Amino acid sequence: MSSYDYDLFVIGGGSGGVRSARVAASLGKKVGIAEEYRYGGTCVIRGCVPKKLFVYASQYHEHFEDAAGYGWTVGESKFDWKKLIEAKDKEIARLEGLYRKGLDNAKADIFDTRAELIDANTIRLVKTGKTVTADKIVIAVGGSPNHHSALPGYELCISSNEAFHLEELPKSILIAGGGYIAVEFANIFHGLGVDVTLIYRGAEILSRFDQDMRRGLHEAMEQKGIRVLCHDVIEEVTKTEAGLRARTMKGEMLDVGVVMLALGRDPNTKNLGLEAAGVKTDGRGAIVVDDYSRSSVPNIYALGDVTDRVQLTPVAIHEAMCFIETVYKNNPTKPDHDLIATAVFSQPEIGTVGLSEEDAGKRFKELEVYRAEFRPMKATLSGRKEKTIMKLIVNAEDRKVVGAHILGHDAGEMAQILGITLKAGCTKDDFDRTMAVHPTAAEELVTMYSPSYRVIDGQRV
Ligand SMILES: Cc1cc2nc3c(=O)[nH]c(=O)nc-3n(C[C@H](O)[C@H](O)[C@H](O)COP(=O)(O)OP(=O)(O)OC[C@H]3O[C@@H](n4cnc5c(N)ncnc54)[C@H](O)[C@@H]3O)c2cc1C
Repeated sequence: MSSYDYDLFVIGGGSGGVRSARVAASLGKKVGIAEEYRYGGTCVIRGCVPKKLFVYASQYHEHFEDAAGYGWTVGESKFDWKKLIEAKDKEIARLEGLYRKGLDNAKADIFDTRAELIDANTIRLVKTGKTVTADKIVIAVGGSPNHHSALPGYELCISSNEAFHLEELPKSILIAGGGYIAVEFANIFHGLGVDVTLIYRGAEILSRFDQDMRRGLHEAMEQKGIRVLCHDVIEEVTKTEAGLRARTMKGEMLDVGVVMLALGRDPNTKNLGLEAAGVKTDGRGAIVVDDYSRSSVPNIYALGDVTDRVQLTPVAIHEAMCFIETVYKNNPTKPDHDLIATAVFSQPEIGTVGLSEEDAGKRFKELEVYRAEFRPMKATLSGRKEKTIMKLIVNAEDRKVVGAHILGHDAGEMAQILGITLKAGCTKDDFDRTMAVHPTAAEELVTMYSPSYRVIDGQRV
C-alpha cells in the first residue's frame, strides 16, 4: 500500500492529461486529476474542435456560390453568428461532458481547480487550499496565447481564445501571425463575410511548410480577397470612434473592428511550483523532459504542449500513452515524433507529412520531385478559380517517399492516409504499383510517373 494519497496525480485536464489519468485509472491505479478551466482542454474547448466547426460554417458561402454551376438556384442566404456560437457551445459542452464521464467511469477523482506543486510529491488544490500527495505526477498544463505585451495597445487585441466567443461578428479583422492558427482564422473570418487582413513579419506565411504549399495558399487567399501583408508587423494599436487603428512598421494605418494576435503560444508554467519541486524549464518556460517525457525530477513527467515538442493534440495523446506503457506496463516507450502528418484547415486546405522540398534537399544528395498542379473537377462547372497542388519528394538513392504535400480540398483527410505510407517506408515504386481511384483528386498521387524536376545538392536541376 502506497503511503501517498494517489498513485498518480495529473495537473491539466486537456488532451494529454485526460488520457494519462483515464488510462492509468482504468488499470486500477488511484488517480486524481485537476483542471482549472474546462475538461477537454485547448483542443476541445478553444482549439481544434470549435475551430473545425467554424471552418465548416465558413465554407457554406462558397458552397452556395458553386451550386449555381450545377443547376441549383439557392435563395437568399444569411449568416447568424450568434446561432453558430450557440450551436458550437452546445457541442463543446457535450464533448466536455464525455471527457468527464470517461474519467468518472475509470474512477479517477476529478477536481475542478487549479493545482500547483509544493514539492516533488505534494500538490496544492488552489480552490480549497487542500494538499494531496502522489507517487507520480504528470504535468499536462498545455500553453496559452502569447499576449505580446510589448506591443502598445496589446490589451485592445484578442487571441484565438476570445475569437470563439466574440459577441458580434466584426466587419473587418486584422490578424497578426503567419502560423496555422492565424491562417486558419483568416480563412474562417473571410468565409463568414468579414474583411480580413493578415499581417506577418516573415517573407511567406507558414514557415516550415513546403514552399509550394506556402506560396500556393498565399495566392489562393489573395485571390479570394484576403489581404496578406508579409515583411510587416503591427507597431501600435489604438482605439478610434469606430473601432481600432493599427499602425504597421511600414507605416500603414489599418482601421478595423478587431485585431487578433496569433503570435505563438507560451507554456503554462508560471507559478506552478516547478522550482519548489525541482522541475527544470527551458528559456521559454517549457518543461525539459527526457526521451520518455520524464522531467528533471524522476517521479514527475510532463507531456503535451507544456514540453514544447510538437504542439498537436494527437502528439499529446501519444505521449500520454507512451507514459502509461513506460510507467505502468513495464514497457519503456519513447514517443515517436517522426513523420507526423498534419493539416492546415485553410481554404484550400494543406495536408502534409514528412520533409518539405527545402529540408529534404539539405538532408539528401539527390531528390526526385513529382509535382502536379491542376484545377479540381468540381471547379469546372462551378467556375471557381482554384487549383490543387500535389507534391511527392523522393530520395533518389533508395526511392523512398520522404515528403508528401497537398494543397486542395480534403488535403487533411489525404494526409492521414499518406502518413501511413510514409511511416511504412513506401517507395515511389509502391505508389506507382497502386491502382488509382477514379475520378478523384487523390489519384494524382499514384499517377505522377516521371519526376517534374530533380534537386541535387539542394539545387533544382
Ligand atoms: C486555435 C487552436 C487550434 C488548434 N487546432 C489544432 C488542430 O487542428 N489539430 C491539432 O492536432 N492541434 C490543434 N491545436 C493544438 C492542440 O489544441 C494542443 O496541441 C493540445 O490541446 C495540447 O494538449 P495538452 O494536453 O498538452 O494541453 P491542453 O489541451 O492545452 O490542456 C491543458 C489544460 O491544463 C489546464 N491547466 C493549465 N494550468 C493548470 C493548472 N495549474 N492546474 C490545473 N489545470 C491547469 C488548462 O486549463 C488546460 O485545460 C490547436 C490549438 C489552438 C489554440
